[in-house]
Amino acid sequence: MSFFEITKKIIFPSTNIKLFLVFLIVLLLLVGDVTVELTGGTAYAYLHILYIPIILAGLTFSVPGGIITGILAGFLMSPYAPTFIAYELVQPFASWFLRLSMFTLVGAMAGAGASLFKAYISELELKQITDPLTGLPNMLGLAQFFTQLSHNKEKAFIVVVIELPHMQEVNEAFGEEGGDALIKQIGEKLKIAVNGDAILGRLQTNRFVILISDEKKVESILQRCEAEGETTYHVNTIPLFVDMRFGISRYPTDDKDLNNLTRKALIAVSTIHNRTQRISYYDKNTLGVSERNLLILHQLKAALEQKSLVLEYQPKEYLQTGKVMGFEALVRWFDPLLGAINPMEFVPLIEETLLINPFTHWVLETAMDQLYQWQKQGILVAISINFSVKNLKDQSLLEKLGVLLESLKIPPHFLEIEVTETSIASSVSEIASVLKKVREMGVRLSIDDFGTGQASQQYLFELPINAIKIDKVFVQSIAHNPAAASIVKNAISLAHELKLEVIAEGVETRNQYDLLTRWGCDAVQGYLISKSMPEEAATNWLNERLKAGSLR
Ligand code: C2E
Ligand code: MG
Ligand code: MG
Repeated sequence: MSFFEITKKIIFPSTNIKLFLVFLIVLLLLVGDVTVELTGGTAYAYLHILYIPIILAGLTFSVPGGIITGILAGFLMSPYAPTFIAYELVQPFASWFLRLSMFTLVGAMAGAGASLFKAYISELELKQITDPLTGLPNMLGLAQFFTQLSHNKEKAFIVVVIELPHMQEVNEAFGEEGGDALIKQIGEKLKIAVNGDAILGRLQTNRFVILISDEKKVESILQRCEAEGETTYHVNTIPLFVDMRFGISRYPTDDKDLNNLTRKALIAVSTIHNRTQRISYYDKNTLGVSERNLLILHQLKAALEQKSLVLEYQPKEYLQTGKVMGFEALVRWFDPLLGAINPMEFVPLIEETLLINPFTHWVLETAMDQLYQWQKQGILVAISINFSVKNLKDQSLLEKLGVLLESLKIPPHFLEIEVTETSIASSVSEIASVLKKVREMGVRLSIDDFGTGQASQQYLFELPINAIKIDKVFVQSIAHNPAAASIVKNAISLAHELKLEVIAEGVETRNQYDLLTRWGCDAVQGYLISKSMPEEAATNWLNERLKAGSLR
């Protein structure tokens, strides 16, 4: 236990520790008193032992505790206590009185210090459980209420998630401040609607949560909240209508954990598809297995709107020169409800929906902005981004690509688009013309996860590509699996015959690196060089490389 934790235990004692501390304080007072007696009187500094119980009492029982113990300790060394017991030499009254005052003062000061500390900690704790914008409890705060409510195991209660589906538009029209102003107003109105009958909190930017412990009141609370959704709100004096949707889950039938109940209420919201429906109850029968997927899609939509996704950058390095070839941009997502979610899980899901387009628009904008930032710092380095085949059918994405290259003045060969072999092989004819256009713009093209597509590799002749990236499944086996080694060697020589560059993915060991160098592979990417890094770390990494002379 650290010093801080021990201090916290003394200042915020449990009943058991309190009893123990009272005992300890009394014991220390007596030990001090006996020590003074045994050592011949008050002339010696043994008196100072008494400061320990005094300070302890101040810390645990605040100012009154410190003062009482200070006075007690003062009287233990009573005015009649002799200075030298052997000579029965009585101490001067003024000396005793001064000591008593000092004891009391130190006790009071320890108490005051502890009270300040307590107030500070309480304030910190309050901040931790409060949403700063609305002053309502956040998820942590709601969790505390939930613990109290769920204490009574017999009692059922309801979790309502209120979602405001159009906050994105409000933010775009009025800026974040406008959006915040609206959320604040809605928070206040909902508080009045809930009217002490339930606990209202804020979940995320555009979501509120209500915990309703009295089932009889659910209907009337929901009605009042719905009515608040129909009133007019004002942002910058402009009147606005606010759309609200309600998702509901029940404790304990749907779940016994607040996070899961909230998640299930959110799933219920995400099943509302028509404008006339406002309220949806969680139904485990209709949702079942695809529940997580549905929630991922729902949360991802919110993450895109709130721009809470992050791009990380993983370097690629030329084998012959050891210089940096460029970076691959890889998306990272941490969702407050679901935790960190791997792109392997959510990218295939959004590829099945139209969300893949806004998602890739965001990836493109973010990566191009990063290219621009590095270029401004005098660092010329290429970035590759992953495109889904569906993206190639999005005319506006290709237009955006052209506009960004032009406006940011980025030489197009600094940008590379990776498309996976599996997806490309199944739709060569459809995408050939688009890929040609991309190449004509000067942007590079590479085939990702090379070797994993089952179909023929005829597309290699038909599509205007620059490079192939050998999938990590093969690369990681080259040292111990002769079949993998020959697949990789063949891929390298095939690519070279077609004048394509070869990048090996997932290189983790020196051995793999050396073998690939020997086989004439052009570049590698993998944990051996570096894992993907957030923007700042990638910039530092580049600067280190620049200093070492191995950037380009
Ligand atoms: P990918 O494009 O083949 O990306 C390479 C993956 O291999 C990345 O996983 C990377 O972190 C991982 N990796 C790199 N070096 C090593 C290594 O030495 N050992 C091992 N074990 N793994 C390594 P990540 O970031 O989880 O991405 C997985 C896949 O998700 C990507 O595979 C890509 O298909 C997709 N993805 C990621 N970001 C995006 C994106 O922005 N857009 C699209 N459409 N797909 C993306
Ligand atoms: Mg890739
Ligand atoms: Mg790959």
